[in-house]
Amino acid sequence: MPTQPLDAPAPAAGGFGRPYDTVFADGDYLPAAQAAVSVHANALSYGTGTFEGMRAFWNGEHQQLYLLEAVAHYERLERSARILGLPLRWTAHELVEITAELLRRNQVDCDAYVRPILFLAGEVLTVRMHDIRAKLTIAVTPTPGDYIKGDGVRCMTSTWRRPCDDTMPIRAKITGSYVGPAMAKTEAIRAGFDEALMLTHDGYVAEATTSNILARYGRQWVTPPGTDNILEGITRRQVMELIAAQTGHPVLERRMHRSEVYVADEVLLCGTAATVVPVAEVDGRLIGAGVPGETTVNLRRDIRAIANRTDPRHPEWTTPVYPEGGPAGWRQP
Ligand code: PMP
Repeated sequence: MPTQPLDAPAPAAGGFGRPYDTVFADGDYLPAAQAAVSVHANALSYGTGTFEGMRAFWNGEHQQLYLLEAVAHYERLERSARILGLPLRWTAHELVEITAELLRRNQVDCDAYVRPILFLAGEVLTVRMHDIRAKLTIAVTPTPGDYIKGDGVRCMTSTWRRPCDDTMPIRAKITGSYVGPAMAKTEAIRAGFDEALMLTHDGYVAEATTSNILARYGRQWVTPPGTDNILEGITRRQVMELIAAQTGHPVLERRMHRSEVYVADEVLLCGTAATVVPVAEVDGRLIGAGVPGETTVNLRRDIRAIANRTDPRHPEWTTPVYPEGGPAGWRQP
């Protein structure tokens, strides 16, 4: 069997392009190479950090880039930092402004993904959270494709489970906590599926690897609660708001059995990278007729249109990045 060199480039997948060169690190806008992190950094060994993933959507007609839910993402970063005891010297609103400036400096004029990471960069080998230098970096990557296919995802229930909140704080988006989802994703792909569903330690449905799950029974949508070891997604909140507004029925947050998913009329996954995707099949059982459900298709379209302000609803979810005139009218300070 041919062996792969350790540094072999990953096959292009997951909808991401080549990252932009300018990053934000240690309070400055720098070329990525100058923001390099030591191989001795504590976080590299132990995953002692927290991160966010947010999206910016380009609208060619407006010549404008819109950050989606940037304040909410940075407020979650603040909460994650508080849980982990990591210092964060900027407020959520300051971080939104820093991110908009980073996007402008990279002259981003396409859909893009923003990755802030707050982590223990100090060269300390001891396993602990305290008295180690923390660092905040923000990087931007174009998203020319889909993170996960949008026409009907085939899922398997993973043999890997979501950790419980007494194992690791689950509502903090912790870098080290992504080993489980990464193992689950690889297990699913190698078994011929697209995505994995992860259960709680006691066998209830939690979420997919990097997205939340909602299921419909007749007119009623249901989703696992925040106390079932999920990361409470910002897209989940948007989807719940849109469903309640459209149907007049609030989404029910309650524990879900695995076999309930098999018999749902419609199932969707939602997250920043995925936006909203229909689930066509779980563990070999077709969901509904095995084709994307109507509500899911509409939600996917609506959230993307709200994100680049083609749809006028919820302008409070988006932040314009460029001044009037778009990238052409902006000059680097
Ligand atoms: N669960 C996990 C484990 C995730 O990584 C994500 C992506 N951040 C989500 C759910 C969805 O959260 P959001 O909608 O805020 O991206």
